[in-house]
Amino acid sequence: MRVAIAGFSHESNTFASHPTALGDFGVRPADQLVAHYQDTFSEMAGYIAGAREHNFELVPLFSAGATPAGPLTRQAYEELVGRLLAGLKQAEPLDGVLLALHGAMVAEHFPHADAETVHRLRAHFGPSFPIVVTHDYHANVPPSLVEEATALVIYKTNPHIDQRERGLQAAGILARTVRGEVRPLSALVKPELLFNIYHHNTSRPPMQPLMQAAIELEKTPGILACSIAAGYQYADVPHMGPSIVVVADGDQALAQREAARLGELMWARREELKIAVPGPAAAVQMAMANERFPVTLLDFGDNIGGGSAGDSTFLLAELLRQGAEGWVVTIWDPASAQQCNQAGIGAQVALRVGGKTDTLHGPTLSIHGRVCTLHEGRYEERERRHGGGRHFDQGLTAVVAVGGEGRGGLLVLNSQRTAPMSIHQLTCAGIQPQHQQILVAKGAVAPRAAYEPVSARLIEVDTPGATAIHRSPSEYKRARKTLYEWQQH
Ligand SMILES: [Zn+2]
Repeated sequence: MRVAIAGFSHESNTFASHPTALGDFGVRPADQLVAHYQDTFSEMAGYIAGAREHNFELVPLFSAGATPAGPLTRQAYEELVGRLLAGLKQAEPLDGVLLALHGAMVAEHFPHADAETVHRLRAHFGPSFPIVVTHDYHANVPPSLVEEATALVIYKTNPHIDQRERGLQAAGILARTVRGEVRPLSALVKPELLFNIYHHNTSRPPMQPLMQAAIELEKTPGILACSIAAGYQYADVPHMGPSIVVVADGDQALAQREAARLGELMWARREELKIAVPGPAAAVQMAMANERFPVTLLDFGDNIGGGSAGDSTFLLAELLRQGAEGWVVTIWDPASAQQCNQAGIGAQVALRVGGKTDTLHGPTLSIHGRVCTLHEGRYEERERRHGGGRHFDQGLTAVVAVGGEGRGGLLVLNSQRTAPMSIHQLTCAGIQPQHQQILVAKGAVAPRAAYEPVSARLIEVDTPGATAIHRSPSEYKRARKTLYEWQQH
């Protein structure tokens, strides 16, 4: 049995100011795929483990991924999907494909680009060829994808720490399908909710009991997979919002019935989806008044993993205004990092920091400080953290002490937009998070896996930006206006 594996992944924020071009993608070629992923917690690692467990021959193609930002350009999408199809044709004969797609990819010419990718594979291979897809929990799943994929398996955790297990599960479904042991039939239900990112944490209500119900259902005989995607509210696309996908063995009615039941469970929680989150001033005040440190502030508006700029200054400005101490703020600012590098360790620098990507993420601030660390930016994460990655590179990184000895804080200036999924983003530059007072993590739920172990408390902050908690319904052009949260306005 020959099974091709490939990954083509992007979470596309249609409110972000910069499109995602071909050059933004990191492409891992076929001959590096297994070596790169097998010791990670990614779904690719699960596919690789699945080949051993289910005794099939692995045919690696490539993986392509880019940091979340605006939709893909036509050229980027066509080039990469073309490469995928060409690779598959070259690898034939094949018995099946395992495909890691994010589920919230938008291309400038396709609002649901992942569905288009599966459609092109289906068109080439015909109706009965096994194509099993894995998705991120933030997928906006359209009906056509569920119809054209043989089966869809979605992460069950946020922070995403179960990708390897989901990859392995998908590999199992694929292998058993090829051997004729199971016949996957799927149902999709989409409750008419926005399901705000604030509620995406799978460790607390309202999502925790829903996910528990999905996990229980998956133990039922005849059910091959049961997934709940929370959706991705920063992609203005027709099928934006949560999705329940049940895959049953040869029993469409069972899949439909159980998906409907879970849909009802989610819908019944709609009154719990209200949100009260402090803004920057109140959040910094709360952090400073906390009895134990460090307190981590989650900067929702500048959620890098959700497509924001990574150079927002709203929280930095507030920390400076309130005279906070012991803070650490990371800002993507290659020019300032370079300036520090030229000045050298120990030098006093006058910098113009952040707010350079667009007008959504606060003003550029004038900062005076002393360069205390310079680092090349590579670090390794061996623990199970959001995204399952192991090797990271934030580029040339400078740490600047602001406000003098014993006062003020540390500004981390990096050169590549890097979401805060690993605490080693700080420790690699000599910062000991446990001895700081206030850490700013530019994200919503994902950074919790890295920051909860070192924090006395985490505070979610309603900051402006391309990933602000609330967007006016009038900003959406393609999403369904019938979503419950929008009917309440
Ligand atoms: Zn996600």
